[in-house]
Amino acid sequence: MYQLKFDQKVCASCRSADCLLKCQYMTFSGHKEAHGEMMKIMKGKDSRVLSECMTCYACEEYCTRGNHPFYLISEKREEKGMFTAPRPITNQWINMTVMQGKCLVGNVKDKALSCCYIPDLGPLGSGEIFKDVADAGVFGAEFMCPAVHTHFARMSVIKERLPIVIDNYRKLGVKEVICLHDECYGTLTSIASAYGMEVPFQPVYYLDYVLQRMKELKDKIKPLNITVAYQRSCSNRLIPDKHALVKKIFTLIGVKAPKRTYQDENALCCAEILRSISGYKLADDVQKRNIDDMLAAGAEYCVFNCPACQTSLAEKVSKRGLKPLHIIDLCKMAIGEKEREAAS
Ligand code: SF4
Ligand code: SF4
Repeated sequence: MYQLKFDQKVCASCRSADCLLKCQYMTFSGHKEAHGEMMKIMKGKDSRVLSECMTCYACEEYCTRGNHPFYLISEKREEKGMFTAPRPITNQWINMTVMQGKCLVGNVKDKALSCCYIPDLGPLGSGEIFKDVADAGVFGAEFMCPAVHTHFARMSVIKERLPIVIDNYRKLGVKEVICLHDECYGTLTSIASAYGMEVPFQPVYYLDYVLQRMKELKDKIKPLNITVAYQRSCSNRLIPDKHALVKKIFTLIGVKAPKRTYQDENALCCAEILRSISGYKLADDVQKRNIDDMLAAGAEYCVFNCPACQTSLAEKVSKRGLKPLHIIDLCKMAIGEKEREAAS
């Protein structure tokens, strides 16, 4: 079984304890308390963090010293049987993502376009931007990143399934896998590396691909001159070095994203997983604060990175007068492939 690589010495000498001090769901009196809780978790002792962590993934970004605090919290929870959600919810996620040999594989050669297990990603990975890879799509539980199970502290499911997913890609003989779901890229890079799993192909983050294609299609771009709020996904916390791509794309296509309270490191997740873990009160509060903040910034559109966030929030932002749109559709709008009216 794969083991989490966690450097205890790095934590022991940590002078920031930012992993917990920056947490948006728990408060600590200062470094001493936060660091002390982390040390307890590391040593397998009880810690209030094991009960109170809302699984937002953000501490994976807040730790800049190369450790994996969220994976450690999830490991220790599972070891202690401290599951985050009621058993039927946890089991439902495990059962509905089980591999059944029903995956779809397109005309795959050197590259595959991963649509994870999310039907909405197929239509997004189309048109001029994806013209070279659109027919190389793969879809299904066989190619799904199992990171969702971290929310439910079922790291054993990830350790069991991720090597199979990686092997399924290997069997395709691909050199590159373009991940349309940022959680897939985060899983194939951050989680695989944290557990010492070898990935025998190059995972490519879709926004790297999109930015490159949009530069190639520069002559077709008509600046959109719109104001948006960007909804950062929880999984983007696993790959914080990729967050800057969003601003680069916005600049290229003439999109303004005014400063918000809940952006970048301080972003709020879509909160639907919080609903399963903590109940309606916290999820509703997070969503309300987030949408209020989007409106206060003067946004017309709410731009999503993750289709799961879009499913969770689209109706809610629409009701408040914002147009929900995936960032790929925003790019399609900039090159005239998608009508502005059709964006809502
Ligand atoms: S996980 Fe990172 S930020 Fe947290 S105590 Fe350890 S080294 Fe410091
Ligand atoms: S995953 Fe989120 S809620 Fe949990 S400890 Fe890390 S920052 Fe806090």
